[in-house]
Amino acid sequence: MNQAAAPADAIDWARIREDFPVLRREVHGKPLVYLDSANTGQKPAQVIEAVDDFFRHHNANVSRAVHALGTEATDAYEGARRKLAKFLNVRGDELVLCSGTTFAINLVAYSWALPRLQPGDAIVVTRMEHHANIVPWQLVAERTGATIKVAEIDERGDLDLEQLYGLLTPEVKLLAVAHVSNVLGTVNPVRDICRQARKRGIVTVVDGSQAAPHRPLDVAAIGCDFYAITGHKMAGPTGTGALWARREHLDAMPPFLGGGEMIKQVRFEGTVFNDAPHKFEAGTPNIAGFIGLGAACDYLSAIGMDNIEAREQALLEYATGRLDATEGVRIFGRAREKAAVISFLVEGAHAHDLATLLDLEGVAVRSGHHCAHPLMQHFGVPATCRASFAFYNTFEEVDAFIAAIAKVRQLLL
Ligand code: PMP
Repeated sequence: MNQAAAPADAIDWARIREDFPVLRREVHGKPLVYLDSANTGQKPAQVIEAVDDFFRHHNANVSRAVHALGTEATDAYEGARRKLAKFLNVRGDELVLCSGTTFAINLVAYSWALPRLQPGDAIVVTRMEHHANIVPWQLVAERTGATIKVAEIDERGDLDLEQLYGLLTPEVKLLAVAHVSNVLGTVNPVRDICRQARKRGIVTVVDGSQAAPHRPLDVAAIGCDFYAITGHKMAGPTGTGALWARREHLDAMPPFLGGGEMIKQVRFEGTVFNDAPHKFEAGTPNIAGFIGLGAACDYLSAIGMDNIEAREQALLEYATGRLDATEGVRIFGRAREKAAVISFLVEGAHAHDLATLLDLEGVAVRSGHHCAHPLMQHFGVPATCRASFAFYNTFEEVDAFIAAIAKVRQLLL
């Protein structure tokens, strides 16, 4: 687990913000107010420098060369795996490094689900899943004859647990659930959900994309079978991520992609695969990216994930209060436990127009369906705007965001 360096209110957040070079820039002549961290997180200089240092001083391929640079690259890459494993509180030999959550979930779909599911089996997903945790299961269902059942949400945006547990009948083989919703910010009680599933022999896949960057994580304690994360949302480079899986699954699963690195011996008569996790890491990996992700784990841990969570909760509370006090604003999602993500609309404005006008004020929010069409369908809207916060945001930025909304409303009225 991450060690808190100091209580959140004793931390010099203004100093920490200075670690993020991009936050010093202006857009359209206004100071950038970056409220799109759920989409991708900004990178501190420590991460940028780790990537830069690798290319300047150590660049070589991993596991293929005995020369000094090759050994350094391999050590740094495997060191990054250990850092990420520690960050998630899992074993390094159960952590498959891959390009992100999308790859991680597809790996489970193709290597675990596809060979196992049969006609009559069912997969449960929730209404609030990102497309990355829906479409792979649809592809599996199509090819195996399995069906998909949907766990619904209540008016606050919390999962309806009674309905969910009612869905967990004997034909259900797999349950896929987000730890934190990228649209509503809902924090799902994944520990309880996984316990209920496990009691019934159902395998669980938890999408941790929006959890890992924002709260202390103890993946081992969640009790899931698979946990997916993506590095670019947690201060790391794009094209990095991981799948944690129980060793028994990794050993039983066939490889997803074939090629170099994932083998022990190749003969035309047959190939002996490497042990997991390398069995699932065919080809040259994103070495520099993972070294950057290792640096990101160090960086976040040094601040303390509980401090990061406390800071973001304070920003969420302040921004929600100010939005609630702004006429014509509708917020989507009032979950009991919520991460610092606010989906909203302003009366009379289309989400894309709103985001475009906010951008002219320097405020970057995302607009669209947020890769969650079924959730948009549920709310009966084609799109929303989403402001998502990170620990490097400030209360003054929340004020600038609210002022920009007020200005846009004036324009639109
Ligand atoms: N799941 C959730 C909840 C997400 O927010 C995202 C990123 N928007 C993903 C999955 C996909 O992550 P990636 O594209 O990095 O694989």
